[in-house]
Amino acid sequence: MISTTPTDDLPVLSGAEREAGFATRAIRTGHQRTAEGEHGEPIFTTSSYVFASAAEAAARFSGETVGNIYSRFTNPTVRAFEERLASLEGGERCVATASGMAAILAVCMGLLKTGDGMLASRSLFGSTTLLFNKYLTRFGIETRYVTLSDPAAWEAAIDSRTRLLFCETPSNPLTEMVDLRQLADIAHRHDCLLVVDNCFCTPALQRPLELGADLVVHSATKYLDGQGRCVGGAVVGDRKLVGEEVYGVLRTAGPTLSPFNAWVFLKGLETLALRMQAHSQSAAQLANWLRDQPAIERVYYPGLAEHPQHHLVGTQQRTGGGIVAFDVRGGQAAAWRLIDATRLLSITANLGDTKSTITHPATTTHGRLTPAERALAGIGDGLVRIAVGLEDIADIQADLASELADP
Ligand SMILES: *Cc1c(COP(=O)(O)O)cnc(C)c1O
Repeated sequence: MISTTPTDDLPVLSGAEREAGFATRAIRTGHQRTAEGEHGEPIFTTSSYVFASAAEAAARFSGETVGNIYSRFTNPTVRAFEERLASLEGGERCVATASGMAAILAVCMGLLKTGDGMLASRSLFGSTTLLFNKYLTRFGIETRYVTLSDPAAWEAAIDSRTRLLFCETPSNPLTEMVDLRQLADIAHRHDCLLVVDNCFCTPALQRPLELGADLVVHSATKYLDGQGRCVGGAVVGDRKLVGEEVYGVLRTAGPTLSPFNAWVFLKGLETLALRMQAHSQSAAQLANWLRDQPAIERVYYPGLAEHPQHHLVGTQQRTGGGIVAFDVRGGQAAAWRLIDATRLLSITANLGDTKSTITHPATTTHGRLTPAERALAGIGDGLVRIAVGLEDIADIQADLASELADP
């Protein structure tokens, strides 16, 4: 921890904080109280830091002494968020980024070079696929895609150029999952690194590093914030990969997190475990209810017994999570009718908010894919995704019920 102004030994958890429980660390870790004795975490809105002397400035710049120089490099509020999230993910080091996409970009720029290859799941966040296909290819970094849930397909696709395996589990929007322990073993057998986008589960439900992954990336914009306020991201892993390779790119190239956004995420983390439990409970209830609606053909939710990777719920990830997708009978017209009939749910692509959101993936998040690509990804025209918020579940169901009962 880079110290703020001199602090005394006020009872902020330190040293033993790794042993404290998840909720305790989510609330306490990372804040080093300043001499002011503030109880809430302060926001350090400063672009640079003052040195006591020219000699101190020189020592700081040369790396001889450790401390703040400039907020593109380090900022105490950002550092507090990084320490807290690192602790929750069980990683040695976290670096915060301006967005989830900046986290993924920093990983790729920090760990790959021209001629390297990447292997990724076919079901990825749209901008991630675009970054890999349109931009990284310009620098001679090739990405190939495999079926997320099929470890044998991953292993078969690795070649001598492959350096990184990249996945999200569960996937968006179909909630497909992969056995992370198995995938990590495959990656390491071939001298590759496994990178997991843990956006959907958060460390409250799933900790990929404990299952063998090398790096976790986050869009903090989603559940870590939890109330749809700020855009941000993070990379978590070991000291060398994250603290040197990824951080080196970030502090030089600059997509670092603003202190205000870091502060919002610190507040978000304090309620993360409670929220993830509540999101999951409501999502499970909604999935069960949707499954009984005649207007609905199929429900995708990890917590349902018929989900193909249901066995990973309770082992790899604690619950089914907060995202439910389903195919409405009648294709796009029926899906749009359902979406337009809602009054409570927000029609928006964001997720991880206290407010429930409803999306038609085929014409929004996955609209840039060709029909053939969408079919391959399993995104049907009748598919609807709901990120279940924390409103009363009875109200969420009532909002959908009229259109479903009378399509
Ligand atoms: C939103 C999202 C991202 C990108 O995060 P931003 O904060 O929007 O840049 C990456 N991965 C997943 C799974 C996401 O849902």
